[in-house]
Amino acid sequence: MRIFKFGGASVKSPDAVKNVARVLQHEGVEETLVVISAMGKMTNAFERLINAYHNNTDDVEEAFKFIKVFHNEMLLGLFNKGHKVYDSINFLFGELSMLMAKNTSDDYDYIYDQMVGFGELLSTSIVSAYLNEIGITNTWLDVREFIKTDDRFRGAKVDWKLTEATIVNKIDRSKLNITQGFLGRHRDTTTTLGREGSDYTAGIFAYCLGAESVTIWKDVPGVLNADPRVFDETELLRKISYTEAIEMAFYGASVIHPKTIQPLEQKQIPLYVRSFDNLDQEGTSVSACYGIEPEVPCYIVKKNQILVSISAKDFSFMVEDNISAVFKKLHNYKLKVNLIQNSAISFSVCIEDKFNEFENFYKDLQSSFNIKSYKNVTLYTIRHFDDIAIKNIKTRGKAIIRQINTETAQLVIQENMQ
Ligand code: ASP
Ligand code: MG
Repeated sequence: MRIFKFGGASVKSPDAVKNVARVLQHEGVEETLVVISAMGKMTNAFERLINAYHNNTDDVEEAFKFIKVFHNEMLLGLFNKGHKVYDSINFLFGELSMLMAKNTSDDYDYIYDQMVGFGELLSTSIVSAYLNEIGITNTWLDVREFIKTDDRFRGAKVDWKLTEATIVNKIDRSKLNITQGFLGRHRDTTTTLGREGSDYTAGIFAYCLGAESVTIWKDVPGVLNADPRVFDETELLRKISYTEAIEMAFYGASVIHPKTIQPLEQKQIPLYVRSFDNLDQEGTSVSACYGIEPEVPCYIVKKNQILVSISAKDFSFMVEDNISAVFKKLHNYKLKVNLIQNSAISFSVCIEDKFNEFENFYKDLQSSFNIKSYKNVTLYTIRHFDDIAIKNIKTRGKAIIRQINTETAQLVIQENMQ
């Protein structure tokens, strides 16, 4: 059994969907489960709709229309008018409208998960119908029947036991199965695994099915040693060990979703990252090898960070009790910590404010601590660094923090204005 994952970019247009069919024809379709994301940038479009809806603004209609027009154009590019898929898609839009009309909750995270998943449902319905239409027979599965989670909306935790039992019992391994990434279910309620969670979905299925491999199909040749949007020169990593991939994901490499590797490593299932444009190329393999190949410095860039230095008002040392109080708050305000540095009286963290909670965190802490913050800084992490690599990063701005250990250098940089 193989697991394939196609992200938004691989289904962003009618031609892209046709290319998915080409990939499947080239690779074979038996005993394969395909996980697909929302099309193109549709999850962002859904977020705009959700925000407008939640804030009750006039933009709801326009945001909804944008999504409808996009999918309608997809349909027109792939099917003749009158094909029954038009009804399925309309039905999904009807369901979404109904949900919006009758919802009474103002819990943002809850409503987010109820709405955003339509992107995946629409996408997989379209791709599945197209493949069936051209003779690639497949079964469409509602992933929520399989991936069982708790109810932490927008970041649900998988109930592994229940999920594994359901997947093992209900998936017909002999077939080509098409399903959604990113989504799960708690009792009768839709949940999501967090943005970019579809890789993780592929990892979950692979683990539960004891798959022979997972392949993530991308618009890049594989995993590169740096983001080509930030660095002029990049190199393809041909091999990465599980440990290295976990380290890279931990530091924020966005090529593979952080949680994806662990379940694969547990069962020693190799992960391939390949280009959906160049099917002859091998891309990158992540497996039980050692380190990376070729051994070059790897750069991971996290923009839009906040560096916060915290010290106690009574000059007490920043040790266990103070630090644990700060960590509790960081956790409560869902602030993601990307770097920690401490001295006797001050404790610095580089954080990401995904949920717009930093101001609340700040206010909450102000009574007991002195806090200094630098907003909009960039965190550069270099795995397998050398002097040239560090020098190279330092040309980008003023280094406020530098932290170096055996394999990894991290610099928080206030970047030069461009
Ligand atoms: N569509 C979701 C997102 O864009 C999940 C994914 O693509 O992995 O975040
Ligand atoms: Mg996506």
